[in-house]
Order: sequence, then structure tokens, then C-alpha cells
Amino acid sequence: MSLTIMKGDITKAKTDAIVNAANSSLLGGGGVDGAIHRAAGPELLRECRTLNGCKTGEAKITGGYNLPAKHVIHTVGPIYFQHSQEESKRLLQNCYKNSMELAIQNNCKSVAFPLISAGVYGYPKEEALDVAVEILSQYKDSMELSIVLFDAEAFEIAKRKYALLTQNYKRFDNSRIVF
Ligand code: ADP
Repeated sequence: MSLTIMKGDITKAKTDAIVNAANSSLLGGGGVDGAIHRAAGPELLRECRTLNGCKTGEAKITGGYNLPAKHVIHTVGPIYFQHSQEESKRLLQNCYKNSMELAIQNNCKSVAFPLISAGVYGYPKEEALDVAVEILSQYKDSMELSIVLFDAEAFEIAKRKYALLTQNYKRFDNSRIVF
């Protein structure tokens, strides 16, 4: 079992679950949320309407509908500038922890994450990646986990960061870093 950082589009992930960086209404948005709803089809929005939204740092699960993934775990990241730095970090850690707890409860063995809050919610990408790796490393021995980075800038940050820390990964190349 492992944690992989890779380039890609999370809507293509053939995992038991993919995580959606949603907004608190769970009724759709732009970025990765828009991409997931487009790929899953209108049934996903129908199920999301029954969930009564989601608080920042918490997570809720739905079916995957037309996605290759079986489930979508919707979590709401912090809007970076609405909180102190410490509070934003705590809330972002909660997103990863609560998403993983839901994945475990639903018997998921493979889960793909986007870089939560690192788009329009303004969390600095490098710090967002630190939080993702810190929390997901705690689960990587029993799960197949991946962080799917959509923009080239985020993957360049990951490469720069881990190129120096050779002891931390098993494989490193131009498209993936496997821990
Ligand atoms: P947030 O509101 O939590 O910041 P965004 O969707 O704006 O969410 O961005 C979160 C991250 O998801 C960004 O780094 C963005 O580049 C990335 N992203 C956008 N589309 C996709 C996709 N199809 N697959 C994976 N990541 C994506």
C-alpha cells in the first residue's frame, strides 16, 4: 500500500472513492467540483440535494454515478483568508482525516484526493501539499492513496520539494512520486 502524488484529472481515477473539494452547499461549484459533477452526471447533484450541505472540515459520501470511482467523498476546505493560519491548517487537516474515516467506514481500499482548498479557496499550494502528505501518510500502510494534481505548478512544487528528500519515497519521475 502506498501514497502517490501524481499529475492528472481526478475524474478519471478508477479508485473506490475520489474526494471532491466542494463548497458548503454541496450543490456544485467550479474547479474540481464542477469537473466531478459534469463527469458524474445529474444523479450526483440529486443525491447531494438530500445531504443538507456540509460544514468546513467535515465530509459526506455519495455514489459515483457515471464516474469510474464507486463513491465521491465531498469535503469542504477552509477559505484561507477567512481564518487564522493555524485555524485554516486545522480545518484542512480535518478534511483529510474525516474523508479517510468515511472511506474506511465504507470499505474503500483506494482513494484519490485533489489538493483541497488550493484553488479558489486560496490555500498556498506548498502548504496545502504539506498538510495532505502529513495526514495521508498516517493511512498509507493500509490503503492505496493518491493526491492527483491537476495544474503543472502544483506538480512542480511537489517535485522540487521531494527531489531533495530521497529517503522519503520509493519512486520518483516526471509524472509520479510514490511514498
Ligand atoms: P477549492 O475551492 O477547495 O480551492 P478548487 O476546485 O478551486 O477547490 O481547487 C482545488 C484544486 O483542484 C486546485 O489545485 C485545482 O487545480 C484542482 N483541480 C481542478 N480541476 C481538477 C481535476 N479535474 N482533477 C484534479 N484536480 C483538479
